[in-house]
Amino acid sequence: MSVEHYDYIICGGGLSGLSLAHRLTDESFADKRILVLDQSSKTTNDRTWSFWAHRSFDRYKNIYRKSWDRLAFYAPDTQVIAAADPYQYHTISGIDFYNHTLKAINTSGHVDFKVASVQDVVDQADQVSVHTDQAIYHADYVFDSIVKSFPEQEKLFVWQHFMGWEVKLTEGSWDDSTATFMDFRVDQGDDTRFVYILPFDKQTALIEATVFSKDLWTEEQYKEMLVDYMDRYVGHAYELMSTELGKIPMTTATFSKGSKRVIPIGTNNATVKPSSGYAFMRIQKECDILAERISQGKIARVTQKRRFIAYDKTLLNVLLTQKESAQRVFSLMFQRNSYGQNLKFLDEETSLWEEVKIFWTLPFWSFLRAFLSENVFSGTKSRTVSNS
Ligand SMILES: Cc1cc2nc3c(=O)[nH]c(=O)nc-3n(C[C@H](O)[C@H](O)[C@H](O)COP(=O)(O)OP(=O)(O)OC[C@H]3O[C@@H](n4cnc5c(N)ncnc54)[C@H](O)[C@@H]3O)c2cc1C
Repeated sequence: MSVEHYDYIICGGGLSGLSLAHRLTDESFADKRILVLDQSSKTTNDRTWSFWAHRSFDRYKNIYRKSWDRLAFYAPDTQVIAAADPYQYHTISGIDFYNHTLKAINTSGHVDFKVASVQDVVDQADQVSVHTDQAIYHADYVFDSIVKSFPEQEKLFVWQHFMGWEVKLTEGSWDDSTATFMDFRVDQGDDTRFVYILPFDKQTALIEATVFSKDLWTEEQYKEMLVDYMDRYVGHAYELMSTELGKIPMTTATFSKGSKRVIPIGTNNATVKPSSGYAFMRIQKECDILAERISQGKIARVTQKRRFIAYDKTLLNVLLTQKESAQRVFSLMFQRNSYGQNLKFLDEETSLWEEVKIFWTLPFWSFLRAFLSENVFSGTKSRTVSNS
C-alpha cells in the first residue's frame, strides 16, 4: 500500500467535512495540502438541510432552494404565525450542497477529495495515520467527522427521528410564504410528535412526521401520521414525489474523545444542538473557528458554551422524565416570546438577562427541578468548556 502525507486529513465528507474543506479552499490556505476522505462520492440527494440565519449570512445563498421570512407554530390551543425577523429560514438540498462544495474543492488545487472507507485513525504523537480500504495516509492533523457509535445508553439521549414526504398538490395550494416550524396538533402518544412543513412553491412541499423518542419507528407508523395530518389539516389531493428518512441524536453526551492531533467535528464533536437537533449553522460556526485556529497554528477542538450545555441538559431532563410535555413547553415558548428571541436563544447568542426572561415564560418549578438535578446534584462534571 502507498503512503501519502498531508497537512490535514478530513475524515468524512458530509456536512461538517465538506463545510470545513470548503472554508479551507480559501487562498490563504493554499500552502497546505488537504485531503477529504468519504466512503461515498456524494452524488445522491440524501437529505434536506434547513436552518435560520441572519440576513448577512450569504455563504450558500446561490444554492438556497427556498427562503422564508415567516414561520408558523401550531398546538391544539395555540397558533403563532409571525415574521422570523431578524432571521430568515432557508433550505438547501443535500445534492446542491455536495456539488457546490466539491466544485470549489476540485478547482482549488490544494484540497483533494477521495472515495475511500476509513477503517482506523491512529494518533502516533508526531503525526496521524489514517488507514483506509485503498491506502494509508499520514497527516499532521485529522479532523474526524465519522461517528463510531452513538451514546444511546446515556440517560440524556433521545433520537429525533422522522420521515418526510415531498408532495405535490393536484388541487388547491400551499401558502408558500410561511414555513411550519412545529405543528403539535397530532396524537402525542407517550413521547413528542410534531409535523414540520416546508412549502417550496404553491404546489410542492416537504412535510415531515417528526418524533423525539428512544425507540425508532417503522415507515408504516410515520405514514399513518402523515396521511392523517394531510387529511385533517391540508385536505387536498396530492402525489407523493419522494421520501426522506432520518434520525438525529439529541444528547449532551460525548461522542468521541479525540486526541491532540485527532480533532472531532460535526456530530462526532456533539455539534448538533442537543435540545433542537439543528446542526447546520452550528457546524458553519465550528468551521469558522477551526479555520481561524488553523491560520493561527493553534489547532484544538471546538467546544460549546458551558451555560448552554446546562440549559440543554435541563430541557432534555424535562422532556425525558416527562416533567412537562414538549407540546406545553414549546407552546409557552412561542406564545410568550417572539421567533427572533427564541431563535437567538437556540443559537446561544442571548445574554444571561434575555435567558432569564425566556425561562420565566416556561413552567418554572419543573425547569428549576430539572436544572438542579442535572447541573447541581448530578455528581458529574460538564462535558465541555467555553469557545473563548
Ligand atoms: C435526513 C436528515 C435531515 C437533516 N436535516 C437537518 C436540517 O434540516 N437542519 C439541520 O440543522 N440539521 C439537520 N440534520 C442533522 C445534521 O445536520 C446532519 O446529520 C449533518 O449531516 C451532520 O453533519 P456531519 O458532518 O456530522 O455528518 P454527515 O453529514 O452524516 O457526514 C458524515 C460523513 O462520513 C462518511 N462516512 C461514514 N463512515 C465512513 C467511513 N468509515 N469512511 C469514510 N467515510 C465515512 C459518510 O458517508 C458521511 O458523508 C439532518 C440529518 C438527517 C439524517
